Amino acid sequence: MGKFYLTTAIDYVNASPHIGHALEKVQADVLARFRRLKGDDVFFLTGTDEHGTKIYRAASQAGLTPQEFCDRKSAEFKRLVKELNISNNYFVRTTEKRHEQACQKLWIACSQHIYKARYRGYYCVGCEAYLLERDLEDGLCPIHKTRPEIIEEENYFFRLSAFREKLLKYYDENPGFIYPRERFNEVYSFVEEGLEDVSISRSRAKLPWGIEVPGDPDQVMYVWFDALTNYISAVGYADDPEKFRKYWPANVHVIGKDISRFHCILWPAMLMSAGLPLPEKVFIHGFLTVEGEKMSKSKGNVVDPFEIISEFGADALRYYLIAEVPTTEDGDFSRRRFLERYNADLANDYGNAFYRMLKLALKNGLIVVNRPEVLEADDRALLEEIEKKVASFERAFEGLELREGVREAMDVVKLINKYIDYAAPWRLAREDKEAFSRLLYLVFDALRRASVLLYPVIPDAAGKMLESMGIEATSISLNEAKSYGVKSQIELKEIAPLFPRVSTDD
Ligand SMILES: [Zn+2]
Repeated sequence: MGKFYLTTAIDYVNASPHIGHALEKVQADVLARFRRLKGDDVFFLTGTDEHGTKIYRAASQAGLTPQEFCDRKSAEFKRLVKELNISNNYFVRTTEKRHEQACQKLWIACSQHIYKARYRGYYCVGCEAYLLERDLEDGLCPIHKTRPEIIEEENYFFRLSAFREKLLKYYDENPGFIYPRERFNEVYSFVEEGLEDVSISRSRAKLPWGIEVPGDPDQVMYVWFDALTNYISAVGYADDPEKFRKYWPANVHVIGKDISRFHCILWPAMLMSAGLPLPEKVFIHGFLTVEGEKMSKSKGNVVDPFEIISEFGADALRYYLIAEVPTTEDGDFSRRRFLERYNADLANDYGNAFYRMLKLALKNGLIVVNRPEVLEADDRALLEEIEKKVASFERAFEGLELREGVREAMDVVKLINKYIDYAAPWRLAREDKEAFSRLLYLVFDALRRASVLLYPVIPDAAGKMLESMGIEATSISLNEAKSYGVKSQIELKEIAPLFPRVSTDD
């Protein structure tokens, strides 16, 4: 059994969760559940990022202490994780004591590359980042269209410039470190152009809400030095050496494209400086638009994931985010498209394949379906087709091609429906009981295999379908999806339709 450690980015608690947060969590959850199906010992981490200027100001605007503000906001993200049915093993908060200890330990471990210097430059609070003169457009932050603050103070710097060659060598030797390739190329050429040292602290007088720099109570850590450390603090870097040895380095960091430089340049350089092993892969997804437009508060088009979940269930949203949104490119959330995919794939194909056969079986008094002694040529052809799909599913998920993988799984469902239509079970039920029983076994066994493949994406529905065939969802493995007929008998139990069709005229 291998270990598999994966993380999402931690969410900055200055605003409430939106559908973009849901995308990243669901992608990571699908990977975590897939690795568990493969038998890996998975540690799956998500959490919240709670320090920095933006939060300090948002808290005082809300009339709360920073800690009270963070507690409230962090709870909203925890609720999102729960309602989305995310299977994380831990929820890290950067205001935890153990996280603070880990940041200080890492700072000391990096101290040979840390120096103090006077800094004068532009700082955008919206970005929580220093900007260079050349980054500005008409003197404004190009993202926030606001005038950056001019900051002049003594700060600690991290000698990032010393890591150019080492990073390039690492990228060359590990072409899979950044996925997809397009992002790899962006980071590579950025580093090739040369790196500048980065400020990693602020004066406490200006920013009281942060982790203290070891040995210098007048300085607090810059939020990114603090935030990135969550990936090691949560697996015991400062307080649980055994756990740390077991899970670090991470196998996959799942992040959005806006923070790729922090994860692909600064973070590996910090780890190199501290003499720690580097993560295996940074998986970078795109952004979501809503009905073709950029999501923004002022446009009033921010999609609330809680509303979709309460209307259609977590599975429906999870399915859309994996099956419709391109895995590593920008995608769109559209209500019309959401309802189309829901009705076509989940209600008609998956839910209905199961439910119409279940009703027919029960109507004919067949609660227990036995594995047939012999298969016909047509049956064997179906099994061969399924085998191919299962293999492509596994290849796709191994390669982080989530959308491709779920399509292969749904293809199994389509094959089953085609076979049902072809075999005409309604006629067989009247005219050929033996053929009818054989068909039932084939269909339910194939649905069992499809449900194992779909389990990482729609765990609730796939789990219920498996349970209605007498299979505990908690004990399934991918190997079972690879074989026909693992059970000599399938015992059926009636359940409510899994994805009731919804009306599309609104
Ligand atoms: Zn900005």
